[in-house]
Amino acid sequence: MLSDLQAENQALRRQLEALLREARSNEDKMRRFEQLEHRLIGAASVLELLRLLLGEYKLAFGIEAVTLTLLDPEQEIRRILESELREPSAQLLAGLDLSQSAFAMRALYGDELQPWLGAFDATSHAGLFDAADGPLASVALLPLSRHGELIGSLHFGSRSAERYDAAAGTRFLERLADIVAVCLESALNQERLKLAGLTDMLTGVHNRRYFEHRCGIEIAQARRYRHPLACMFLDIDHFKRINDTHGHQTGDEVLRTIGEAIRSQLRAGDTIARYGGEEFVVLLPRTPGFFAREIAERIRASIAERRLLAASGDGIGLTISIGLAMLGGETAGQSPGKLAERLVASADQALYAAKHGGRNRVVCDAPESAVWTEREFVGSA
Ligand code: GH3
Ligand code: MG
Ligand code: MG
Repeated sequence: MLSDLQAENQALRRQLEALLREARSNEDKMRRFEQLEHRLIGAASVLELLRLLLGEYKLAFGIEAVTLTLLDPEQEIRRILESELREPSAQLLAGLDLSQSAFAMRALYGDELQPWLGAFDATSHAGLFDAADGPLASVALLPLSRHGELIGSLHFGSRSAERYDAAAGTRFLERLADIVAVCLESALNQERLKLAGLTDMLTGVHNRRYFEHRCGIEIAQARRYRHPLACMFLDIDHFKRINDTHGHQTGDEVLRTIGEAIRSQLRAGDTIARYGGEEFVVLLPRTPGFFAREIAERIRASIAERRLLAASGDGIGLTISIGLAMLGGETAGQSPGKLAERLVASADQALYAAKHGGRNRVVCDAPESAVWTEREFVGSA
């Protein structure tokens, strides 16, 4: 009888110790979780938030794979990240996928939008992870939603089959998904506000303030890596006449059309801004003179070819003049601000020459200089 009681007591004690160990481990997990949560909430930018999630989470919780898919139908998140990373790239961050459609994500969760924990299944899950993280045995898939709409999907993968068990509670993970979704939305809203202050409301391209900020960055990069940097000044020909003949609203539409026509000829890392009234400015990083001239010629021709239909039904012929300048070779000892002023002034002078030469043309600053020939670029590359 006594020994029965002793045995039962020992069993109870063992159970109690196991419970205590679990509680301590949960407490420890909770502490690490809360630390990370604070950092997620305090992240200063979308980029920092994503880096925390895709990098530090793995380290803090000792899991093999963390990946994230974000719904980005307008490629807005891509533009925000590219501008934070200061370069366009097919792969912005390891583990991040930007998807233009929610179709694949919806298929993971159905209408429930609940976390899914269970065994790794190559057919359904291989596409969510990098093969280098494997072989994975169990996964946790967390839907990220705001106001009932799916905005993304966060995926954890472990080599241990027990780690993410269908029978395990998902309270922790649900809370994490809620926090990540709120933090993402708030960080993206911040970036949208920032962008709004740097965007020209009429044409949707950047404004002069952004151009001036960006010009400093591009000049510093061009000097550091010895890359050629081209600057283009573009001005609509006889725009006053268009306003006078067809009215201001048509004039505004012409501005939007021209902004879009210029933008459509540029690469993702190029900068276009409306400098003032009917003048645009473009920066082409890592672009040698002969190539910048080709791009300028392409923009000029694409605008001269089109006719805009005015509200009256009249077709309006449009042309623009373009001045081009390259960041000079002798830049040592000069501040980026001074160099930016000089670059823009050179492009503006070339534009003036294009106007005087008869409009609807591209003029290069110092055209006799070797910077405009392909041979010069090949020789200095
Ligand atoms: P040029 O070929 O020499 O460049 O002649 P231009 O008529 O284009 O140049 P000018 O500088 O004489 O006129 C520019 C006009 O642009 C005058 C101004 O009313 C108009 N403008 C400036 N900002 C806007 C705008 O936001 N909307 C509209 N519709 N017109 C604008
Ligand atoms: Mg003008
Ligand atoms: Mg003009």
